[in-house]
Formats: sequence, C-alpha cells, structure tokens
Amino acid sequence: MNRENSKKLFVRALDIIPGGVNSPVRACKNVGNEPTFIDHAQGCMIFDEDGNGYIDYIGSWGPMILGHSHPSVIDAVSSVLKRGTSFGAPTDLEIILAEMVVDAVPSIEMVRMVNSGTEATMSAIRLARGFTGRDTIVKFDGCYHGHADALLVEAGSGVATLSIPGSPGVPKSFVSHTLSLPYNDIDSFIEVMEKRGENIACVIVEPVAGNMGLVAPKHGFLETLRDLTKQNGSLLIFDEVMTGFRVAYGGAQSLYGISPDMTCLGKIIGGGLPVGAYGGRREIMEHIAPQGPVYQAGTLSGNPVAMAAGIATLTQLKAPDFYDTLDKKADRLLSGLVNAAEKAEINVTGNRVGSMLGLFFTDREVLNFDNAKTCDLEMFSAFYNGMLEKGNFLAPSQFEALFVSAAHDTEHIDTTITAAKEVMQGLRK
Ligand SMILES: *Cc1c(COP(=O)(O)O)cnc(C)c1O
Repeated sequence: MNRENSKKLFVRALDIIPGGVNSPVRACKNVGNEPTFIDHAQGCMIFDEDGNGYIDYIGSWGPMILGHSHPSVIDAVSSVLKRGTSFGAPTDLEIILAEMVVDAVPSIEMVRMVNSGTEATMSAIRLARGFTGRDTIVKFDGCYHGHADALLVEAGSGVATLSIPGSPGVPKSFVSHTLSLPYNDIDSFIEVMEKRGENIACVIVEPVAGNMGLVAPKHGFLETLRDLTKQNGSLLIFDEVMTGFRVAYGGAQSLYGISPDMTCLGKIIGGGLPVGAYGGRREIMEHIAPQGPVYQAGTLSGNPVAMAAGIATLTQLKAPDFYDTLDKKADRLLSGLVNAAEKAEINVTGNRVGSMLGLFFTDREVLNFDNAKTCDLEMFSAFYNGMLEKGNFLAPSQFEALFVSAAHDTEHIDTTITAAKEVMQGLRK
C-alpha cells in the first residue's frame, strides 16, 4: 500500500506540531507506525491522502455512529452555516438539543453545553465540589475522563498507550485529592467509602470503560457505587462521553438501570463537531453561574453549527431498531475476529457492549486496567499493522475501543473478518 503522501505530510507536521499530531494516539507511534492523513470520509469508509480507502472502526473515536458525512447532518450544518457560525448569544438550537438530552436521559433534569468531553468532566467535578463543599474525588484506574489535571491519574486512552502513570506539569498537590481505585473491584471501593466517605465530593466512572480497550462493569459494581455514594452524601458522576447515545439512546445508565447524580456527555451529541455537555439533578445544576456560585463559561459553547450537527444526529438515532441493528453487526464483527484468532490458535479475549468492542491478546478475562496492561501488546501491534495494510482502520492502541456505525453493512464486516483471518494466520507462532 502506497502511503507516500501521508509520509510527506507527517514530515512537514513534525516540524511545527508536537509529535506531528493534535492528539497523541493518532501518531500511531506505539504500534511502530505513522499517522494516516485523511482526505475525506463517506459512510463507513475513510480515504487517505494517497487515495487508499479503509473500512473505519475508529469513527473519529466515537462520534460517527451514523457513519461519515451522513446527509442529514451535512444538510443541517450547511443550512445553519448560512445564518452565521457563532453569536455569543443564545439560539433556539441550544434549547432543542438540551430538550433532546433531557428527554433521552431521565437522570438529567438540566444540562449545560460545553465544547469537549474534557470540559464536561472538569466542570462536573468543580460543580460536585462546589455543591458538596468537599474536595476528594474518586476515579478508577484505566478510565479516561479527558485531560484535566485532577483526572490524569492512572488514566486510560493515550495516557495508557504511552505507559505513563500521570503527567509532568500536574503538581502533586493538584492530584492529592484524587483517589484512583481498580475498576470492577467492589471490595476496595467499599473500604474507601467506609474510611473516607464523608470527605468524598464525587465518584466519577465510565459506566462501561472504553479507554482501556473495552471493559464492561461487573454485576454489582455500578450498583455499589450508587448505593454507597448516596449513603455518604457524595455525588455519582457517570462519564458517558463515549457511552452516551452509543450503547443505548439513554446511555449506559439506561442499559444498567442506574441513575447517577450527574452525567457527562460528548462525542455523539456533537455529531462530529466539538461539543460536550454535563447535566444532572436540578438541585445540583442550579449551583452553576449565573444561577448559582460555581463558575463555568465558554466563548463558543452552544454554538449553532455544533448544535445543529448534534440535533440532526440524535434525530437519526431515534429510528426504530437503530440500536438492535447496530448490536447485531457489532456481535458479528467481534465473533468473527475471535473466531479468526481461534483458528490460528492465538489467544484472544473479546469484550463488547453494544457497538463498542475490545480485542485483547490474552487467554484471560479482562475486567480491569491491570488485566488490560498484561496483554500481548506486540501481538496487538502486528495485528493492527496487518489490518491497516489490508484496508481496515482500527484504533492504533489496545487501550482504545473499536466502534461499529450504522453505515457498516454485513459485507464490510465480513471483508474485515476475512482480512483478520489472514492476518491472524500470519501471526501464528
Ligand atoms: C473521549 C472521552 C473524554 C474526553 O473527551 P474530549 O472531547 O476528547 O475532551 C472524556 N471521557 C470519556 C469517557 C471519553 O471517552
């Protein structure tokens, strides 16, 4: 496969953009490769600057649940663009999207729009601290909540990909109020709440973890978080930036039947434009300025172009059987990948919730970050590179989820499975 143009662009980019990219994992460094520079994308296909087409399972890291360049999203954005791109004053579009979010997610009574998932989680934490008057927060190893200082402790996604526990530039004192516990470990959570519950402002969790590969919550884990936060007057924050509108229209909370105090959203609600949101119980949300004292603001927050993309996307997701159909496709893909590995006598564990999946090169269950870290990452790299060469755009890190979109049809998925069979045979020891 000729990738000359991508190579040339990368050389230019490296000179003036740190690492040549505007977000670390895109560099594909840990899989011994270089970034693919994209020209355009349509449906489930993404095309690079050398004219190569790939079946895309990254989906811009989650937002593109309808596939790329969906006509209704492109139309909505184009028509709003003609009215202007940002006003710094409210529009009806913000109310429409907020109403859609409140309708979709019953635990959200009020919602504030921001511009990224990072902003959503950072603001939710501030609000939880402001509301409770407490400082300590609890997170879980391998969960990624964006790159705000307090949350860059044992984080997943790019932080895990680069094997760093935290980050230089985050003062120790800034993370001294952050406790990070093993995901799915009910006992250690109970112990911490018993000892320190009354000082804990909030517990933030990915209800389905999608930033250490894909790890589902064990039965009882989310329930315990709910019960003990309630008992201790701490807020439970579901970071549904990835899972919101992904695993179900109402997010992971509707799938597992748990009602958090606050929810963070992003990715899909922006339909491919920069949007994040945080919402929750009215009594909590009323603490945000200008209604309350907790400050949070944004020049471009709620801008009409992003709102239009979000509204158009959510509207499509309401189609009957949308999530069932997606679920079946994702199941077909994961079973095919696992089967391809088994035929080649390679140990893999496949995890899936809805259209999010993770493939780990290990013979053990993957229930937490420690499990994910002990998988065979060299094997993963070889698999990634083999699949790329055969026209499949997979996340270039085992610590990222794969996504199936509505634009993938059975043929695309079977093409990927056929490629996986060949690549896996090549990896046979
Ligand atoms: C992607 C992600 C974020 C960060 O969102 P950005 O828009 O990249 O800032 C936060 N939390 C979760 C669970 C995510 O998947």
